[in-house]
Amino acid sequence: MPDPMVLILLGPPGAGKGTQALRLAEVSGLRKISTGDILRAHVAQGTEMGVRVQPIMERGDLVPDALILEIIRHELSAMEEKRAVFDGFPRTPAQAEAFGAMLSELGVPLHAVLLLEVNPSELAHRLLQRAKQEGRSDDNEITIRRRLQVYEEQTRPLIDYYRTRGLLKPVAGLGEVDEVFARIQEVL
Ligand code: AMP
Repeated sequence: MPDPMVLILLGPPGAGKGTQALRLAEVSGLRKISTGDILRAHVAQGTEMGVRVQPIMERGDLVPDALILEIIRHELSAMEEKRAVFDGFPRTPAQAEAFGAMLSELGVPLHAVLLLEVNPSELAHRLLQRAKQEGRSDDNEITIRRRLQVYEEQTRPLIDYYRTRGLLKPVAGLGEVDEVFARIQEVL
């Protein structure tokens, strides 16, 4: 069985984390775990959790750490081979701390944190494009602004958190999907 390993894709909304996580999953056999996708599935199915998180997501705020950590614990324990790429998690220092503890308990190394860097004007442009293409209910102008602000306030501290642990690998997120993916492969 291949060795357990975890990668994290970090970056603001619209940086291309989901797209690149999918590529990584395809070429490296890692399982893509996207907390946003899991939450959206709950909303679509109208589960108890879905009903609870829907208004939070529509505002562009973060759902409570405890709930996210419950999801992650469940996902990890259900995996026979603990090889995964995380998209959109962790998003707060508390999530990062708890995730680190979970991984060391399981003996799973955190291999790297890929930081997708894209400038703010490009981000807003991409998110509005996605709104037209996918019709995500949180891709409207007001929510986009809120999500970018939430990233700055609550998620950006993770950059230093992982940099000081020697895990951060910045990657320029501008350009075609293939170009960005090539840069990711280079740094890994
Ligand atoms: P995403 O698709 O990753 O942009 O996530 C969409 C929304 O789901 C976010 O705006 C949050 O409301 C919620 N969400 C996803 N992942 C997390 C997380 N790790 N912590 C808190 N909220 C999250």
